Amino acid sequence: MSRIAYVNGRYVPHSEASVHIEDRGYQFADGVYEVVLVHRGKLVDEIPHLDRLDRSLSELQIDAPMPRAPLRQVMREMVRRNRISDGIVYIQATRGVARRDHPFPKNTRPALVMTSRRLAMPDRAKAEEGVAALTIPDIRWARCDIKAVALLPNVLGKQQAREAGAYEAWQVDDEGYVTEGTSTNTWIVTPDGELVTRQIGEQILSGITRATLIDLAAKQGVTFVERRFTVAEALGAREAFVTSATSFVTPITKINDTVIGNGRAGSVAMGILDSYLDYAADAGAS
Ligand code: PMP
Repeated sequence: MSRIAYVNGRYVPHSEASVHIEDRGYQFADGVYEVVLVHRGKLVDEIPHLDRLDRSLSELQIDAPMPRAPLRQVMREMVRRNRISDGIVYIQATRGVARRDHPFPKNTRPALVMTSRRLAMPDRAKAEEGVAALTIPDIRWARCDIKAVALLPNVLGKQQAREAGAYEAWQVDDEGYVTEGTSTNTWIVTPDGELVTRQIGEQILSGITRATLIDLAAKQGVTFVERRFTVAEALGAREAFVTSATSFVTPITKINDTVIGNGRAGSVAMGILDSYLDYAADAGAS
């Protein structure tokens, strides 16, 4: 079965889907995106993702390419046409096509594309083993709260991680505090059992998975605090993990050359992974 993409009002075969060479997303990374998890054919945390999309667009003064109700219909149509049970919907909106010039163009319509693909839900036994992370300087811009398609530093960081045999790179600010992963939010559990993730602000993306997990952790009675933590604190943590719509809760058992905790996924990470999977199958899906 061939994949279908959505491009500015049309459903087209994925292999033929294209946009104009003067799309500002292509020339200036002048656009934003969202990745929404699909589980059992339903969209997980759809509304918070669309709220974040609206916010990213408004921060860049890009008009919404489409009102929310039809947008939600197109997302469902993408899931249906691509026969996705477990997977993702990718949404990208740019300022549109215009003669290449830095200022915002006048009378240009924002462009909207969507793709959808399969993604397996996490394997619990594999998650238990954990993966490695390395730390790198955060060389990104000062508005990482905007989910912009300008991901070059993230791409370079992820590649550096993969070349070192690691799953993710944890980015570190000038003061030695971890900001976030290249495509994930970062968490630790302190030796006292306190769950910690950096507070939201312009240095990190306000992860939708992050927000959902904060609620789920509270329901489990886990002590939680939002604050910055240093690389040194992470190396001495009992547990570490990363979260995102596509990596769910992924335990980190090694950072640089240091084994975290006992070298296996910890009980807090596995507990919130389990509750997230229940949530995705039920309350969070629409
Ligand atoms: N931080 C960054 C830099 C990301 O790219 C992502 C994934 N889009 C996240 C955090 C996690 O966000 P979410 O839980 O909404 O996928």
